[in-house]
Amino acid sequence: MAIDYQSLAVEGVQALSPYQPGKPISELARELGLNPDEIIKLASNENPLGPSSKAMAAAKAALSDACLYPDGNGYDLKQKLSARFNVTADQLTLGNGSNDVLEVIARCFAGPGSEVVFSQYAFAVYPLATQAVGATPVAVPAKDWGHDLDAMAAAVTEHTRLVFVANPNNPTGTVHDADALETFLGKIPENVLVVLDEAYCEYMTGEKDPDGVALLSRFPNLIVCRTFSKAWGLAGLRVGYSISSPAIADILNRVRQPFNVSLVALAAATAVLDDDEYLQRSREINTAGLKQLEGAFEQMGLRYIPSAGNFVAVEVGPQALGVYQALLARGVIVRPVEGYGMPNHLRVSVGLPEQNELFIDALAKALAAAGHGG
Ligand SMILES: *Cc1c(COP(=O)(O)O)cnc(C)c1O
Repeated sequence: MAIDYQSLAVEGVQALSPYQPGKPISELARELGLNPDEIIKLASNENPLGPSSKAMAAAKAALSDACLYPDGNGYDLKQKLSARFNVTADQLTLGNGSNDVLEVIARCFAGPGSEVVFSQYAFAVYPLATQAVGATPVAVPAKDWGHDLDAMAAAVTEHTRLVFVANPNNPTGTVHDADALETFLGKIPENVLVVLDEAYCEYMTGEKDPDGVALLSRFPNLIVCRTFSKAWGLAGLRVGYSISSPAIADILNRVRQPFNVSLVALAAATAVLDDDEYLQRSREINTAGLKQLEGAFEQMGLRYIPSAGNFVAVEVGPQALGVYQALLARGVIVRPVEGYGMPNHLRVSVGLPEQNELFIDALAKALAAAGHGG
């Protein structure tokens, strides 16, 4: 009799559905016979500026050492990060993207019988990482699309090991200010780890925005995760990191793969930290692009969730998937979010001004075709 190999997988893994990434440009080009240069991808919150020239130069130079294993301790990158954030190198854990770090955290601290708390509409990797280690996901209903921090604190039980907080959150763009976050952290028992995912922190422009790193000394159960994928423009190279107490970092570093960040990625990330001008431009183009998109949505009479990230979730109605398809046909890739339980929304990443304009124009036509009115 044929063996059902699926049934051999551990229980949590059997129930997993894979992460749905944004559609790659090359795939749409193949499907529609389009020239890849004519396609705009605003689907994965990537940096529209292209990579920093300093990062590219360092990555190219590093290729001549490609026959060597990378520095498994990431000494140079950790030195730079330490200086930048005024932490010690032993507080840092590097990852193959911060996604890697999130998974390592789940593997180290959660398992069968433990509960992991996160919000409805939160980043999809939290339930994935939770289920993959056989822990029990506890999704707390959102409030106004954002995390209901009071309800999340109340959801912590004696079985809770981890709480994931995305600030700002993807795909909603919602954010909590420093006061709200501190109040929340004050309610979480010290033996429950709080993972504060700040993948978009570099984009925040509010006056009372929290800084996870500044909270570490007061909340030893905090793990702050950050990435080079978004504002730093290195999504394709896969580098992220966490900052925590040395004791927590020591555990994470035992479990991560010894060479989880490539030599090229380490070189590029180390170099881009010297390119604050690039970061500044990333922020400026994003602030302007958010305004442009939100202004257009208002003109079109579309509701959207005000965003602190480099993307906006816009409400286009129950035919959102049809609108998504119509945009694809026009060479514009955005992100459906029905998998997040948001079937009426599409998430669009902020592009360059001309890309945003092309998207807005295509959206207006797609909505008209879908019978949405003007
Ligand atoms: C994009 C994103 C990440 C980071 O992804 P990596 O590329 O793996 O660093 C982490 N958290 C959230 C909420 C994100 O949107």
